[in-house]
Amino acid sequence: MPNRPLCDLHIHVGSSVAPHIMWSIAHAAGIKLPVRNYWEFVDLITIDPRKVKSLDDYLSILHTWTERIQSSPAAIERAVYEIIGKEYRGSRVEKIELRFNPMKRNLDGERDLDHIIHAALRGMDRACLEYGVQAGLLFCLAREFEPQLNEIILDKAIRYRHRGVVGIDLAGTESNAIELGSGVERYAGMFARAREAGLGTTIHTGETTNTNGEGVIEVVKRLKPDRIGHGVRAAYNEEALRRLADTGTVLEICPTSNLHTRAVRHLEEFKYILGTFLEQGVRFTVNTDGTYLCSTHLKREFELLTESGILSASEAERARGLAFEASFI
Ligand SMILES: [Zn+2]
Repeated sequence: MPNRPLCDLHIHVGSSVAPHIMWSIAHAAGIKLPVRNYWEFVDLITIDPRKVKSLDDYLSILHTWTERIQSSPAAIERAVYEIIGKEYRGSRVEKIELRFNPMKRNLDGERDLDHIIHAALRGMDRACLEYGVQAGLLFCLAREFEPQLNEIILDKAIRYRHRGVVGIDLAGTESNAIELGSGVERYAGMFARAREAGLGTTIHTGETTNTNGEGVIEVVKRLKPDRIGHGVRAAYNEEALRRLADTGTVLEICPTSNLHTRAVRHLEEFKYILGTFLEQGVRFTVNTDGTYLCSTHLKREFELLTESGILSASEAERARGLAFEASFI
């Protein structure tokens, strides 16, 4: 793929900072690490795809170390700053929406949320100035959080809307039936409030094989997000496909991440999934999810799809252009 500007709509702060930067941040903060040297640390915070069996395995790595190391104003500022520069230098990402959950960066209330948010915005501003790129933050609400905690995250997103917070996300596994069915309803008020405040909305769903697009149907019907994180399982559900096409909801596809978590078994299956989306008029973009956790970058994600014949050059170009259009920035 030629060196054209790219836009990443789905990239987590927790899984996209280079290990040597994380190492440096951890040392600067004096964090006691359970490793003897740098290489053991790399193993600790990156993923060996042969060992990961599910999305839950994946998330547990994030929660245990990565989020803890990023839980201070200085750490989050540097993390955000470093990611934006790295994605521009490595993949020419000129527009980037970085997502994280500020409440998973404040050591259960020990650190002040506003300090964490201001620091993230500072890191973003510095990187934008240096590289001339556009960036915005998405705050992730968490499925495992009590509603009042998610409401606080939403309040913060609204408060910082004019400072560079461009939207909200809902993250975490849809591990039980309640999440897939009417349980989605409990977020309806929050998503409506976000929309009214002018924030963009996206939701992780249709990412695990324990569902066949039911989550996508409920989310589109009840929460009406602008975009959906992953949504690959919708390819196996006619109603989900129809609703996505009718509403024009944009999918944020993250190929390597889905292969690592076994959401998609192999490239052949990706060919079927993306082929179905193209056929049914479901709009999708290509993203990284987490560059270091998945050992990838955005340019490589496009190459993976074009070199294996999953997308033609013009289909890849359409996905590239759509990301810029569908951005909340
Ligand atoms: Zn994600």
